[in-house]
Amino acid sequence: MNRAAYIVAGLAAALTLMFGAGVASAQTGGSAPGGTTTPTPTPSGYSQVFPIDSSVPHKYGGGFGASRGKRSHRGQDVFAACGSMLVAVAPARVIYRGRQSAAGNYVVIRSKALRQDFMYAHLQSPAPVRKGQILSTGQFLGAVGDTGNARGCHLHFEIWTGKWYRGGRAIDPLTTLRWWDSYS
Ligand SMILES: [Zn+2]
Repeated sequence: MNRAAYIVAGLAAALTLMFGAGVASAQTGGSAPGGTTTPTPTPSGYSQVFPIDSSVPHKYGGGFGASRGKRSHRGQDVFAACGSMLVAVAPARVIYRGRQSAAGNYVVIRSKALRQDFMYAHLQSPAPVRKGQILSTGQFLGAVGDTGNARGCHLHFEIWTGKWYRGGRAIDPLTTLRWWDSYS
């Protein structure tokens, strides 16, 4: 390996350490000649994490748009053991916290920087936060459960561009979830 190759390899290793393998490999393909690539897909960069404690095994279930009787599924299900820790995906404010027949115990948090709302449903017990509370990334939000209309403990997770059921629009969260999953 020549000197330049060593430097490139070292840089890739450093990026892997900083941001996770997903970024480092994505970067190798996409840098502008002589310029710098912007490794951040979102305004707040890497201050985001996967919504379930990432040390817990989890697998993806029903996705966005899956049929749910008359309605379609507005989120992504992620199965993990009952009681697994849920965390705030980004710095956010608690907008709603409640219980509903379909969602069970749920909580909605809003990121002002991202202009997105994130909804967590089927929590084992009411979220240990209060409406209006400011959360930092990774802050405890409750536990994976099966309250409401849920078969098996899982997190039902929604991402809305704009405000949740107040003019916003639900988007498919799977790509974002997989991204967070790759480094957090
Ligand atoms: Zn669901």
